Amino acid sequence: MDHTKRPRAEVWFRYADDLGLGPYYLGRAPRLNDGPSIGQIIAADAAAAPSSPSPEMLAAAARRRPEPAAAPAPASPLLQAATGPSLFEAVERIEGDTLERVRGDIGPECARCKLHKARTKIVFGVGNPKAELVFVGEGPGRDEDAQGEPFVGRAGKLLTQMIEAMSLRREDVYICNVVKCRPPENRLPEKDEIATCSPFLYRQLDAIRPKVICCLGACSAQTLLATTQGISRFRGEWLDWRGTRLIATYHPAYLLRNPSAKGEVWKDLQKVMAVLGLKPKSR
Ligand code: SF4
Repeated sequence: MDHTKRPRAEVWFRYADDLGLGPYYLGRAPRLNDGPSIGQIIAADAAAAPSSPSPEMLAAAARRRPEPAAAPAPASPLLQAATGPSLFEAVERIEGDTLERVRGDIGPECARCKLHKARTKIVFGVGNPKAELVFVGEGPGRDEDAQGEPFVGRAGKLLTQMIEAMSLRREDVYICNVVKCRPPENRLPEKDEIATCSPFLYRQLDAIRPKVICCLGACSAQTLLATTQGISRFRGEWLDWRGTRLIATYHPAYLLRNPSAKGEVWKDLQKVMAVLGLKPKSR
């Protein structure tokens, strides 16, 4: 490789290594059956390219790398079923980000996706910017759209009761949604809408850095875990999102329709309470 390109290439190799995709350095021997490492693929590209490896080159190399032979993955103490954020999502993390900056970046009249057409208010999120617990729903409903605050309708009142049963106040936690504008007729957010708006959710979570993320319903859990599995496959299990404990439970709106599921949700919330060192509210 051209010696002028080498230092920058090494920076990118170390960065990719930090993302857990190693081994990359040419000096390291790849594991048996691993095929060429991403570093080797990038090195070959860098030798031929006019500039140092870009994030796109990293991603392209990751895609071209042959699947290694099946080998047991090292067990994570928390991860049981999650798939983590993509390389692109990891790259998009902004150091020192704040909720104010995220809200500012959305702008007063965001029209990035088609949900802007029928909304009344953008529903960004509410609560403690240093919360240890963040609840993530799918999107605003009619009441939320009118008031500009998440979970204020009937389902929101039930969520508030759940929070209080955990010996917390609503203002102690942070509450937000995957999409910030109301889907028409309260339908589920569509793929393109989630893809457009969810980076703001990632930034909110990165800015708050809670101890626990509690996903309310399948939409938020599937978005953060990048999975299409049904929520019943992993509800109540401890998972991982960028190093933060994540648990998924049923959406309060589901509980309004299926009150018999409240017991399951309470069990999930008790797991959260155990992690946060909370005792149930005495009656
Ligand atoms: Fe913008 Fe998100 Fe609203 Fe779409 S849902 S218009 S991306 S704020």
